[in-house]
Amino acid sequence: MSHFVSLAVYHISVHFWAFARRERQAIMILDIRPLLRGEVKSIAIDYMLTPEPVYGVCFDGDAHVEGAVKDNSGYMRLKLKTTLTYHGECARCLTEVGGVFEIDFERTVVNEGVLTEAQLEDNVDEYVIIKDGMLDIDEQLKEEVLLGFPTKILCSEDCPGLCPKCGKPLRDGDCGCPKKEIDPRLAVLATLLDKNDDNK
Ligand SMILES: [Zn+2]
Ligand SMILES: [Zn+2]
Repeated sequence: MSHFVSLAVYHISVHFWAFARRERQAIMILDIRPLLRGEVKSIAIDYMLTPEPVYGVCFDGDAHVEGAVKDNSGYMRLKLKTTLTYHGECARCLTEVGGVFEIDFERTVVNEGVLTEAQLEDNVDEYVIIKDGMLDIDEQLKEEVLLGFPTKILCSEDCPGLCPKCGKPLRDGDCGCPKKEIDPRLAVLATLLDKNDDNK
């Protein structure tokens, strides 16, 4: 029941957030026409993108998108690096962790109508499309960040989690709890073995 409630609250907050963001969202629409006309060989890109929310993670501000679209004799290539600072709890031990998430985004830039629908559908991750001389990559970039972001954030890859008995983080050392659940019928035997050890 409590799980259901928290899920419902999350959905409401996401809706509200999406609505609130629509007002102030910085949209990046890049004017590619100077490149198409051959006036420049490359256009630099540097802006802040508001990422889609990721459950259980807080982003410390917007994502920084940096890179360029370059023209190599008619073959246009977009290369971007997106950097996003985040914090949240380790999925295993609940320790507060933070970090910088980085993802590369590279696409071939083509004019609308150059490729068929089928070609585009077969190569969704390969192209970005210029429409009326403009390039709008925000949605594709946001999706890339969302798909690339780790589904679980961990304090370290080998985080051993929490002691199931006392709840202490196991990486802090031995909490003193018995390592194995001992069958009460065997407890007597364990005591005998302990005594035997003492006698050595
Ligand atoms: Zn951990
Ligand atoms: Zn313990």
